[in-house]
Parts: sequence; structure tokens; C-alpha cells
Amino acid sequence: MEKKYDFLIVGTGLFGAVSAYLLKKKGYSILLIDKRDHIGGNVYTKQVNGINVHQYGAHIFHTSNKKVWDFVNSFVEFNRYTNSPVANYKGKLYNLPFNMNTFYQMWGVKTPEEAKAKIEEQKKEYHTENPQNLEEQAISLIGKDIYEALIQGYTQKQWGRKCTDLPAFIIKRLPVRFTFDNNYFNDKYQGIPEGGYTKLVEKMLEGCDVRLGIDYLDQKVTWDACADRVIYTGEIDRFFNYQYGHLQYRTVSFETELLEGVTNYQGNAVVNYTDAETPYTRIIEHKHFEMFGADLEACPDTVISREYSKEWQPGDEPYYPVNDNTNSALYAKYKTLADAQTKVIFGGRLAEYKYYDMHKVIERAMEVVNDL
Ligand code: UDP
Repeated sequence: MEKKYDFLIVGTGLFGAVSAYLLKKKGYSILLIDKRDHIGGNVYTKQVNGINVHQYGAHIFHTSNKKVWDFVNSFVEFNRYTNSPVANYKGKLYNLPFNMNTFYQMWGVKTPEEAKAKIEEQKKEYHTENPQNLEEQAISLIGKDIYEALIQGYTQKQWGRKCTDLPAFIIKRLPVRFTFDNNYFNDKYQGIPEGGYTKLVEKMLEGCDVRLGIDYLDQKVTWDACADRVIYTGEIDRFFNYQYGHLQYRTVSFETELLEGVTNYQGNAVVNYTDAETPYTRIIEHKHFEMFGADLEACPDTVISREYSKEWQPGDEPYYPVNDNTNSALYAKYKTLADAQTKVIFGGRLAEYKYYDMHKVIERAMEVVNDL
């Protein structure tokens, strides 16, 4: 490698791409490398029969941070997609997140007052003062009926752990509302980049050198020599050669099917299967992220993905960090090693071992670049 860069960025996902764009704007020279043969990390989307398929799981952009929203919209336009998943529990459909539609479907209650009274009644029976785990938190938020139908089975499939062994914060992500509003998020801004996330990342990386199919840690010394500083977005435990042991992740396998001649398979982008018996957690129908009304019918085919969640094994894609006490303690040890590095900066979901939403990753990258 002859050219000497100011920054080597390992990973072309959102953290890497946003950092690259901001550093380039400050006048730094940048080389990005990625293990995969494409850019974008897990937000990568691939066109199949005119449909942008979220190959590594559904990504729905939402934020209340105007700076972040303006930032992403400066690269591509975002559409008006609003996430409103439907839950299928043993053949019956419920709206998510938990709102007046869900309460009506569950109990037949028609007013906020009736719904609140019903939840209060259930809380009285099971309420715990200081919820210590996901089960206690869920029941004290929403009562036992909804917990059992819409949370318990899904969460245990998703995390492979009992709800009593999971942290309460996971369920706090989901809004509880006494309005007939099926919007999954409370954020001010929401949408999907028109033309897919790959286009968004491509625009961020314009003017940067990018090399694909390269595993940094295989030849770390060589790659380190080509830049003054390194931004590493891969797994933190792997960077340190697993010296304290492996961090745990949940991985997801996707069973993706192209259904030719089917214009509309399930009528929604996301349908969650919340019972414990159905082996997959949800079915994503990708065209609903970007096609509405006449466009939906005009596209003759559809692509669906069934998601199966399982414990990560070496060789699998690490998707969700398991932020329980054991893993958090292990991460803290790696973080001490990371903080002692002078040349390398660690950022993003894998390097910070954090269940990050996309807008939070962008905020973090902005902060990191600003602090440099
Ligand atoms: N969750 C649930 N039932 C659902 C959807 C979500 O119990 O139908 C819980 C589950 O514990 C899950 C968490 O809420 O892990 C967060 O779900 P979200 O859809 O926000 O997660 P992601 O899209 O990141 O997988």
C-alpha cells in the first residue's frame, strides 16, 4: 500500500459511512475497507425484481433529531413510510404497538377510560413496584393478557431467554398509547430512503476510496500502516482476539422467497408471529416499505422474508448484542482495552456492543468526528 491516508475506516455500515463523509468534509483522506463484497453493512438493500430487499433485516429510519433527519435527507429523499406492524397470535390479528386498536381487539374496550380501567385492574393483580426484568416491566406497563399474547412468546423466541432473565429496557422501546394510533415509533420523523439504503450509503461514500472483500484483522499490521488513525466498527471482542472470551449475540437467519405473480402477500411490511410455537418471529414483505397504492399493484411480484432468531455461533452474523449483566460486564473489560488504544477509535453497534437504532449510530458518529 503506497498511499498514506489520514484515516482507515474498517466497515462501511452506517457508523463507518457517516464518519467517512464527515471526515472527508473536514479535508481528511480516507480509505474504507469492508469484509463483505458490498457497502452498507446491515442496512444494505439489494434490488430483486424492482423491490429493494433489506437483506440483513428490516431497517426503518426514525428520529426526533432534526439535525440527523436533515443530514440523511441531504443525500436521498425519504418516503412517508410509517411502521405499523400487525401481530398474529394463534390466527388472530392485533395492531401494534399497544394502543386503543389493540385494547379493543383484546378486550372489546372502546374508550381510553375503559382501556385504562382494564389495565389498572390487571396491574393491581400482578404489579411489582420496581420492575427488575422484562416480564415484570411488561406486566406493569400493559397487564397480563397482552403480555401473554403479544410479548412473552415473541420475546422468548427473539432472545432465546425467559422474559424473567431479560433486562426491562428492551420492552420500554415499545410505546403504549391510549389513542387509535398504530405508528410503532413516537419520533417526529420517519421514513425509508427512496431507492434503498444502499443508495444512501453510496452517496455518503462518494469521493472516498473503498476496498471490498477485505478482512482487516487478517492483515492488521499492513492495514494499520497505511493510515495515521483507524476507525474500527467490527466486533470489539474479535479485535482483542477474544482474550477475555466471547461476547454473546443473537443471530437471525432469513428465509427469503420471491413470489412471482403475487402483488400483495400479507398487506403489510411487518407481521409478527407472537406465539411461542411458530418457529419464525416475523414475516417481512419488502415492497411495502417503498410501494404504496398504485405502485404496489403495478409491481407484479413480491419478496418475503421469514426471520428465525437463534444464538450466535462463530461463523454466524452477529446481529443483536445481548445486553444482559454477564455480557455487559465482559464488554466493560474490552472497553477498558479499547480506551487505552491511541490509534484506534471504536464505534457502532459491534464495536460498542450496543443495541443501537440507526439514528443513534449517526448521532454517535457525529459526536466522535466532532471530538477528534
Ligand atoms: N416485542 C414483543 N412483541 C412484538 C414485538 C416486539 O414482545 O410483537 C418486544 C420483544 O422483546 C423485542 C422488543 O419488543 O425484542 C423490541 O422489538 P423491536 O421490534 O423494536 O425490535 P427490532 O425491530 O430491533 O428487532
